[in-house]
Amino acid sequence: MENNKSIKKLANTYCYGCSLCSCICPKHIINLKLNRNGFYQPVIIDEKACIQCGLCLKVCSYYNEAPKVSVDALQGFATWSKEDAVRRKASSGGTGFEIARSLLNRGYKVLAVRYNTEKQEAEHYVANSETELIAGMGSKYIQSNTEDAFLSMKKGEKYLVTGTPCQIASMWRYIRQKRMEENVVLMDFFCHGVPSKLVWDKYIVELEPRIGKVVYASWRNKQTGWHDSWSMGLDGDKAGTPVNWHDSYNMLIREKKTSYTSRRSEGDLFYKFFLSDVCFNKACYKDCKFKYLQSAADIRIGDLWGSKYADDEKGVTGVLTFTDKGKCILSDCNIEKIPESVEVVTEGQLKGNLSRPYFYYFLLALLRTPLPLRYIYRFVQMLRIGSILKYKLHLK
Ligand SMILES: Cc1cc2nc3c(=O)[nH]c(=O)nc-3n(C[C@H](O)[C@H](O)[C@H](O)COP(=O)(O)OP(=O)(O)OC[C@H]3O[C@@H](n4cnc5c(N)ncnc54)[C@H](O)[C@@H]3O)c2cc1C
Repeated sequence: MENNKSIKKLANTYCYGCSLCSCICPKHIINLKLNRNGFYQPVIIDEKACIQCGLCLKVCSYYNEAPKVSVDALQGFATWSKEDAVRRKASSGGTGFEIARSLLNRGYKVLAVRYNTEKQEAEHYVANSETELIAGMGSKYIQSNTEDAFLSMKKGEKYLVTGTPCQIASMWRYIRQKRMEENVVLMDFFCHGVPSKLVWDKYIVELEPRIGKVVYASWRNKQTGWHDSWSMGLDGDKAGTPVNWHDSYNMLIREKKTSYTSRRSEGDLFYKFFLSDVCFNKACYKDCKFKYLQSAADIRIGDLWGSKYADDEKGVTGVLTFTDKGKCILSDCNIEKIPESVEVVTEGQLKGNLSRPYFYYFLLALLRTPLPLRYIYRFVQMLRIGSILKYKLHLK
């Protein structure tokens, strides 16, 4: 029961929720489930059937060391799609889409993330054509359910797998275990953390009585630009106000007839929680091994926030290539590409780990109650002010 106990212990304490332990299990006794805190976690459904093969732990990126990044292949670029429509729909410059499109045309299948409006959840799926790939454009700022798509991968087929750095690091181990690495390209993104699904569920539950059943959600719509009104200052005063990236966080939600937009700068509640870093998965705080330059992917993408491209209104994707395979793929897709130093590409990115707030479990408990999101956020603000005051008094 040793392995069995370890994976169970890991899942109950810290786990990235990537599902690869479930995908590799030869006895199919591990399932991925959403836990009470709103994060995916493996559950062993039949402990007695475990044969102690240890594969579940071998593929786990939480349990194992992160692979070493080769400095030789590390290169940085500022990039964007040559097609304006792609750039408009994507979160930053649309390079994620262009890489996927180019590989699709070369016979790859793409594992991307779409929003499932029936279940109101993000899920990985397999795109076999450009039309199917469109649902995978743009960031869905909730943890994705990877299990069905990851399970469907077959030896001999070619795949591009996209995902959070921790999902991709476990996939890196999985394809080596299955001897599939020749045929698989891995792409992750700069990630500061995945928020609890409890926040998103509440957000939707509070919204639906006002606007009806949600049939579409886009977290980063660029109807008013990449930096839009926030960059002009909240009062519309453009002159001399430094560009601020926050308002690129612009939610667009549609029901059958109407649509609803809500921005971070206008007080959007989902973004208040997400961008205050208070409700991420436990493993996203001090135990995240993949911030800044740590990655198991061939290519990493992200928003190129920072001074050099601050005036760009269409979106720029910062790219890091970590392998020769990654470099080669990037040179063969429909993008504009400017070589940039790693410092420029990562200027706006987290360089270290976040700390988990002391009220973390209290906050998750509040999210499980019927209390409206706005009241819970007020609590969060009070608790944060309390902790700042405590810190300042302690310093005196
Ligand atoms: C939870 C989360 C946190 C992020 N944090 C940062 C950050 O701190 N800094 C930063 O620069 N960028 C971050 N990003 C990435 C950023 O939002 C853009 O995805 C990135 O700039 C690429 O944009 P693009 O226009 O090139 O491609 P897009 O067309 O936007 O491609 C996005 C890619 O991400 C995949 N994807 C979308 N949602 C998810 C998800 N929930 N889980 C796994 N994969 C997903 C899609 O399948 C697609 O391949 C984060 C994304 C997510 C989902």
